[in-house]
Amino acid sequence: MTAQSNDFVPANLPSTIQHYIGGQHVDSIDGDTFDVLNPVTNKPYLQAASGKVADIDAAVAAAKDAFENGPWPTMLPRERSRVLHKIADIVETRGQELAEMECYDTGLPISQALGQARRAAENFRFFADLIVAQHDDAFKVPGRQANYVNRKPIGVAGLITPWNTPFMLESWKLGPAIATGNTVVLKPAEFTPLSASLWPGIFEEAGLPAGVFNMVHGYGEEGFAGDSLVKHPDVPLISFTGESRTGQIIFGNAAPYLKGLSMELGGKSPAVVFEDADLDAAIDATVFGVFSLNGERCTAGSRILVQRGIYDEFVERYSAQAKRVKVGLPHEETTEVGALVHPEHFEKVMSYVEIGKSEARLTAGGGRPEEFPEGNFIQPTVFADVSPDARIFQEEIFGPVVAITPFDTDEEALELANNTKYGLAAYIWTNDLKRSHNFAQNVEAGMVWLNSNNVRDLRTPFGGVKASGLGHEGGYRSIDFYTDQQAVHINLGEVHNPVFGRQEQAAEDLQA
Ligand code: NAD
Repeated sequence: MTAQSNDFVPANLPSTIQHYIGGQHVDSIDGDTFDVLNPVTNKPYLQAASGKVADIDAAVAAAKDAFENGPWPTMLPRERSRVLHKIADIVETRGQELAEMECYDTGLPISQALGQARRAAENFRFFADLIVAQHDDAFKVPGRQANYVNRKPIGVAGLITPWNTPFMLESWKLGPAIATGNTVVLKPAEFTPLSASLWPGIFEEAGLPAGVFNMVHGYGEEGFAGDSLVKHPDVPLISFTGESRTGQIIFGNAAPYLKGLSMELGGKSPAVVFEDADLDAAIDATVFGVFSLNGERCTAGSRILVQRGIYDEFVERYSAQAKRVKVGLPHEETTEVGALVHPEHFEKVMSYVEIGKSEARLTAGGGRPEEFPEGNFIQPTVFADVSPDARIFQEEIFGPVVAITPFDTDEEALELANNTKYGLAAYIWTNDLKRSHNFAQNVEAGMVWLNSNNVRDLRTPFGGVKASGLGHEGGYRSIDFYTDQQAVHINLGEVHNPVFGRQEQAAEDLQA
């Protein structure tokens, strides 16, 4: 059997996907659809409805009606929390089905897709707990005033998501948006709409009222679903995850409406390994850090900076381990790197592999694995001696390709770490307490891990600086993004007014 002759097909695989508006599955108003490809074969396996302005209009109208007239925004937090917990339960019990669909649609290895499904359930559970524990500020001015914060949902939130770990990233926005009482229109990524097609069933079973969740599939560009959502006047919030360039376009398009924006964008995160680091742990973590999720990971440590004294050993051991990373069919349990999401993305990553060959020293991978003549498979690829002005050092590749660069001093390491337009994550490997904290505090990154892989407590802020994002989500920051904090001021004492308009009257009184 050749690698391509696999006939794995997940249970209940649909052949068409519709929009979901006001509790109904519907086609596009103009009937248009687009093909979705299986990344192992690049053959189309389903048609998804392709949304345009009119479909977004209908979805926003349904969401607006549910916000203005439905029970959801004014329900007790405990009642909303119960629904969210049920959503989490259902996602958990359907985890295997969900992961199989995700791996079929995205090419992610099944073991990692299962982990993402668990994380999606956890996102709902986390916000279900958070909203019942939510307390807001109150301030008193003794004898004069009390002030309190009246937190309110904002309205229709537009959620635009990318194709990497799509279901989990959708849950990351859906959880807090609906937990706080908003209604939503989700626009999933066009490469990977399959797992999103499970949301309507999950939400209906959990008892979410119709119209709270709406979904329009389709492309992002002008005239299509994503752009129409950004430009819709009845959508005051846009939470976007995707490329930095797309973020800039959305920022511009949302400006005339002064929308609330949350932008989780691209990355080119450094992993910095000092001579005093635990080398075994650092190698395992940095191999996982760039090759997990097929390298299609915003927080991938795709630039490894290694101190000169351990550089040669690091490169040799790292490259040897990268060669042993198992590329395989996404649904096989032993697979560590599956197929990239789409042939267009495959071509993009392959073009960087070729660029890298002209810019640096190839020490592992560098092409398609022999056993996979078709599909979007790429060998885990390592380039060493990469100079900071190389394109593979500067640009986000978003695939299983890593650049390794030597450094001598802490200052040089920091300069190299900060030497890209991005600032999402940084990983620092050292056993020197002072150095680790000083470096962490100076590195231009929204999130820093010291002697750790990307393991994140859901309460912590998530977001990037520079071209990697705008604003933070995660824990209470997500609650803040999806709510207005109205300040209510109450007078408790005498009315303290500088009195206007009494001067004439005082003069008249004197004359009288
Ligand atoms: P993308 O920007 O191409 O697309 C993301 C979404 O935006 C898709 O749903 C797309 O249809 C939509 N879109 C495209 N143009 C639009 C427009 N003009 N108006 C409105 N919507 C539009 O990104 P992608 O290729 O799907 O995802 C990969 C990127 O996402 C990488 O850069 C990665 O780093 C980034 N990412 C960031 C994070 C983070 O949290 N910082 C997480 C995951 C992925």
